[in-house]
Amino acid sequence: MDEKSVLTINVVTPDGSVYDSTSHLVICKTTDGEIGIMPNHVPLLASLAIDEIRVKKEDESYDEIAVSGGFIEFSNNTLTVVASAAERKEGIDVSRAMRSKQRAEQRIREAEDSGNDIDLRRAEISLRRAVNRLNVSNH
Ligand code: ATP
Repeated sequence: MDEKSVLTINVVTPDGSVYDSTSHLVICKTTDGEIGIMPNHVPLLASLAIDEIRVKKEDESYDEIAVSGGFIEFSNNTLTVVASAAERKEGIDVSRAMRSKQRAEQRIREAEDSGNDIDLRRAEISLRRAVNRLNVSNH
């Protein structure tokens, strides 16, 4: 890749680095909507939705990473993603995500029945993490 027109992307979580590569295009879903980041993009700081990050590779395919929310910071052609949890598509344990989804759905039903708004909100976020992992692994 031409050194002048690439960006470096690092995805870090509390468990360490999950992904480290270079690219000409990274697509992220921020809480304000989807953005594409190319080399020499203006500096940026944004919060991430529970969604996927797509990193375009030289062969035009994409690396896909499921992220469970966090922040992105872009400056000096380096995109740093700080996520509470993140998994590369190949690292997603589908049966674990399906079990997590079922547990979250059960907790949502219980929280709705008991009227517990805090439990309901937690279960909804847990469900979104599980569904996101299943979506990314199904692409
Ligand atoms: P679970 O209920 O299965 O633990 P969770 O959504 O509560 O899922 P998180 O708290 O988001 O899990 O993540 C805890 C750790 O487990 C993180 O390191 C995350 O990357 C990893 N992880 C969670 N679910 C999966 C999965 N389906 N496949 C691979 N790694 C996972």
